[in-house]
Amino acid sequence: MSTERACPVCQGRHYTRFADERIDPARVGALTYASRKPPEFMCLRLVRCHGCDLVYAPTPPSEEFLHAAYGEAAFDSGPEAMAAARTYAAALRAHLPALAARHGAVDVGAGSGPLLPFFQEQGFHPAIGIEPSRAAIEAAPPAVRPLLREGMFCRALLEGESVSLITSFMTLEHLPDPGQFVGTAHGLLEPGGAIALVVHDWRAPLNRLLGRRSPIIDVEHLQLFSPRALRTLLERSGFERIALQPIRNAYPLRYWLRLTPLPAGAKGVLLRLLERLGLADRQLAMNVGNLLAVGFKPR
Ligand SMILES: [Zn+2]
Repeated sequence: MSTERACPVCQGRHYTRFADERIDPARVGALTYASRKPPEFMCLRLVRCHGCDLVYAPTPPSEEFLHAAYGEAAFDSGPEAMAAARTYAAALRAHLPALAARHGAVDVGAGSGPLLPFFQEQGFHPAIGIEPSRAAIEAAPPAVRPLLREGMFCRALLEGESVSLITSFMTLEHLPDPGQFVGTAHGLLEPGGAIALVVHDWRAPLNRLLGRRSPIIDVEHLQLFSPRALRTLLERSGFERIALQPIRNAYPLRYWLRLTPLPAGAKGVLLRLLERLGLADRQLAMNVGNLLAVGFKPR
């Protein structure tokens, strides 16, 4: 009998039920642990913390299992990853002038590194991506691949670097201990440096509307944040001047279609229609309940 973990943000143990476990072992395939894939409607048992508003799985799979699953996950991205990186770069830009310096910038869960050229354009040196999936690193363009370091985020991977900015987009939900992650980031940053996180907001109207059919209700999510939970996470690690804002994701219509909870047959028909109309690659920006948080380490 495994014991339940405390809330990974505030260590509280008082919660209410949020969703029951739904796992179909036959469908736990390689794609389950790759980012941006069709929603599968599988999830772990989830509860909502009374202390900080985090939704989390009290009995997540073992870290060994998760590490192996991410290291070997099939890589299923490309144009969507580029579109997401453009969205995050645009949202981040306004916060950069408040940084004390532009030494190293580190993107954690960097995939094939679409954000790293943006760091270089903005004058950060060095630009570093940390990514556990070798398939993602091997898919990186030749100019970006040397900037990627294979592994899970830890101090040892960044030994000797001066770090002004640490970003992590859509990875916090997957980590066994997001508090440890943010604490490690705080320790690595130089004074006046910043962390920038993008997460799914479970309280966003679209996610509340879709309920259990929302793509955020997914077996790979060990926790789901709300604005209050995300702010609590950053405050408890010592970040200040914390700013939260919803962000609009711009993606081609064909990608939005893939995310919808429609049956596969209907998606195929609609996709062919969009292609015939020449609209499948039209960009559409929508607020789909993603939240950006930026917090600064005291100078
Ligand atoms: Zn909590």
